[in-house]
Amino acid sequence: MKDCLFCKIAKKEIPSDLIYEDKEVMAFDDINPLAPVHILVIPKEHIEGLQTVKDSHQEILGKLLLTASKIAKQKKLKGYRVFFNCGKIGGQAIFHLHLHLVGGWKDLPEFVELVRRRLGEGGAI
Ligand code: AMP
Ligand code: ZN
Repeated sequence: MKDCLFCKIAKKEIPSDLIYEDKEVMAFDDINPLAPVHILVIPKEHIEGLQTVKDSHQEILGKLLLTASKIAKQKKLKGYRVFFNCGKIGGQAIFHLHLHLVGGWKDLPEFVELVRRRLGEGGAI
């Protein structure tokens, strides 16, 4: 996709803070982190979002989750959350499938506070 930001990141036309890369997926730091650790995991192939996936995407969908799990282990995250924002009403701003991996808070109340703060600033999660 010509004008897709994450396609450009996947092709290294735009720099990112790379965490992991192989033939199929890429993981990089979110530019506006919600939490101490906020990593995006994307397929290199352009897929609009979880709302448009087909049966043929089964393998890449598994790979995104597996990659998130490996990164969380490598970062020694004790607890974390993984989510996809799906569609405009679901809070999706970039229409290239991406998994959010967030963690690094000390306990759940701290995470709730991070979310509260972000929403208070008028930001999205
Ligand atoms: P979403 O709202 O689910 O579409 O999430 C898009 C995410 O991409 C947001 O958390 C943004 O902070 C993040 N983002 C936008 N531009 C960049 C970029 N150039 N590099 C890394 N993350 C980005
Ligand atoms: Zn794309």
